[in-house]
Amino acid sequence: SRFELVEFCKDVISQMQMANFPNYINFISQTEYLTVWMDKNILDSILKNLLDNAIKYSPFGSMVELRLLGNNDKIIFQVKDDGIGISTLDQKRLFEPFYRGNNVDNIPGTGLGLSIVKTLVDLHGGQVTVESKVGVGTTFTVVLPHKI
Ligand code: ATP
Ligand code: MG
Repeated sequence: SRFELVEFCKDVISQMQMANFPNYINFISQTEYLTVWMDKNILDSILKNLLDNAIKYSPFGSMVELRLLGNNDKIIFQVKDDGIGISTLDQKRLFEPFYRGNNVDNIPGTGLGLSIVKTLVDLHGGQVTVESKVGVGTTFTVVLPHKI
């Protein structure tokens, strides 16, 4: 459907924020309004899976960030954390179903979140990439084409 993406992101963040106190989710948007034509459920699960990871693999109470950049034909989301980071070996396999990195220790999970993200981003004709440094943090970037 056709909807305003900045407000949509704020809604997603407030839901995630309520479930994840005392972590703090910071939202930065390049524009005040951005009207898009996309599938809301797909976007909702992409954002929630990435924010869930950013919070889960970061120190208790730390800040994570969602950035939104967009223009008339594509949007870019970046989800950034200052968490445990991901080794280059693990970065190559993260999007495989049930794959969990050697960084997970006792942190619970099924290893499905990112494979779902990748499938949904592909369905939408977009790309998802990761940049990370062990002990420093991680940024996931999602590029999605959209219609107005
Ligand atoms: P699920 O999402 O199904 O509950 P999960 O979080 O383990 O479980 P994915 O979301 O698919 O699974 O992530 C795969 C693996 O990638 C994780 O197990 C973890 O090793 C690594 N990972 C994902 N996001 C991050 C992040 N932001 N920081 C550090 N490691 C991450
Ligand atoms: Mg996950």
